[in-house]
Amino acid sequence: MRSEFDFINALRQRVASSSQSIVTGLGDDAAVFRSSPGKETVVSTDLLVENIDFRRTTTPPYLLGHKALAVSLSDLAAMGARPLLGLVSIGIPEDIWQTDFVDRFYDGWLDLANRYGVQLIGGDTSRTNEHIVIDSIAIGECLAGMAVKRTGASPADQIFVTGSLGAAAAGLRLIERGAHLAEQNLDDEDSQKLDHVLLRQLRPEPRVGWGIVLPEDRLATAMIDLSDGLSSDINHLCEASNVGALIDASLLPIDERVVELCGRRALDPLQLALHGGEDFELLFAVKPEHVARLPRRVDGVEIKRIGEITRAEDGVKISEGTRIWDLKPGGWKHF
Ligand code: ADP
Ligand code: MG
Repeated sequence: MRSEFDFINALRQRVASSSQSIVTGLGDDAAVFRSSPGKETVVSTDLLVENIDFRRTTTPPYLLGHKALAVSLSDLAAMGARPLLGLVSIGIPEDIWQTDFVDRFYDGWLDLANRYGVQLIGGDTSRTNEHIVIDSIAIGECLAGMAVKRTGASPADQIFVTGSLGAAAAGLRLIERGAHLAEQNLDDEDSQKLDHVLLRQLRPEPRVGWGIVLPEDRLATAMIDLSDGLSSDINHLCEASNVGALIDASLLPIDERVVELCGRRALDPLQLALHGGEDFELLFAVKPEHVARLPRRVDGVEIKRIGEITRAEDGVKISEGTRIWDLKPGGWKHF
């Protein structure tokens, strides 16, 4: 059986340090990196627990590695930070250790890391009795004083989201009903739509480019990533900023493939877009006078205006036609 030592050595070969900021990378008792003058360091950590945050039977290890890093890069993007470094700790039962699980896991992690120039600088490896546990840490930087917090929104700011909503939650519902990715690249339109929706759940794309662009010229006053679900996350942002919000349901960029697939399966696209989590899009607020300066798209990803920040006493609301109701947090909660 492969020893932990062999595993770490093999991993070390794969991550030959290229970044100038790293003094000591993977392979010593701790990593050492230099911080740049005029910058601030931004750190995020995420725990992925088997059967709570993912299922081993429906999540290929490659995609789990991708997702472990993607969720952390999404957090850095939501702070307006550029990602630089990562650490991964993994607890794994012995029978899984004996498979190629960790190799495929790191294939997925490193492929995404290489796309954004993120360097693996450490982690930890241990054994668990039954379930896989993964802790993913990402470190990035932003210009000093330029991190975009949840707290900066004020009334009249316009609310935007990147990309599209609802597909990750639709993907989860479909996986729970037994759907899986097509084995080969099928041409037929239906299985392509299905794969798209499943991959939005299994292979989320962090909006790294928008996270770098928005802090320039302080375009966003406040930002959060949509991990729990729009209804919950807009409430988090509004609470932190001490404001309200009015969302217009007709403006929500609901993924068109969700609309098509849901009709036949008694799922409600609006409910998925509002309360389904894990889209990992960015939600941000922009002063009305700065809206015209927003880029149309970054890395091929567009943004959509979905509403407006209001006063705290107006609450967090959603309108659909002439009806307006409270938008209560209905997203994912661990407890
Ligand atoms: P220590 O006992 O000092 O923590 P380890 O044997 O746990 O040493 O780790 C040796 C090196 O390998 C360290 O640089 C550590 O960060 C790295 N490392 C261990 N496990 C992992 C892992 N799963 N992913 C990435 N790096 C790891
Ligand atoms: Mg250790």
